[in-house]
Amino acid sequence: MWPYPRRSANRKKITDIVDAAIQTAESVWQDLAAESPAFDCHKGCAWCCHQTVMVIVPEVLFVKKHIVNTFDLPEIEALKATLRQRSLEIEGKDTATRQTQGIACGLLKDSVCSAHDGRPTMCRGAHSESAQVCHDLFENFDGVVRAISSGERSGPFLIVPKMIFNSAQTGMAMALRDVGLECYAVELTAALEIALNSPDIEEEWLRDQSVFAPARLTSVNERYVTGVNGIAPAPSE
Ligand code: SF4
Repeated sequence: MWPYPRRSANRKKITDIVDAAIQTAESVWQDLAAESPAFDCHKGCAWCCHQTVMVIVPEVLFVKKHIVNTFDLPEIEALKATLRQRSLEIEGKDTATRQTQGIACGLLKDSVCSAHDGRPTMCRGAHSESAQVCHDLFENFDGVVRAISSGERSGPFLIVPKMIFNSAQTGMAMALRDVGLECYAVELTAALEIALNSPDIEEEWLRDQSVFAPARLTSVNERYVTGVNGIAPAPSE
């Protein structure tokens, strides 16, 4: 039974739900990791951090909470400036274009995730058997995707963690939808910019889920692109 009726949904419970879903998914993955093929991911390898990061708003609020709790004020201000710049760069772009143009996630700093312990489900589920294939995707996304589709090459990502963390994300979205909270897909960098620039974004979102509409992912020619309806206005000084 869903434990949080809508009338008691609040900012703390929203991030608690994400924390619980992530901890559960991490636990399931730990149980299965030994039986999965080895993966090639390591600190400093960040090819996959140059693609569209599809999240739901509660994950954005979870990432924001992690940042507010672990970054100092100058770091938050620097991050907000980076997020603003990247949000402008990714507007209307899909993963292939981002990879081609080398546009990183706003949280990537010196090839390391600056919010590693608070990262969302999509990032946690990405485990690659081959950093070389990730590098090649970064260099030539469409060409490598074609080669994978035709069977010339193998795809790099492990299925099991991807399914576990995707399921956690879908489960959260469906449960929140059942209590009347719409959880459409948003892009992490663009959504985090909105979240960090509004102290009361959690309450705003609980009242009106359209506050993250500028970061919404839209399917264009069967590919997800960020914010085709226009990016968020620049935060007031
Ligand atoms: S949140 Fe962290 S792990 Fe995920 S894409 Fe951004 S930098 Fe990479």
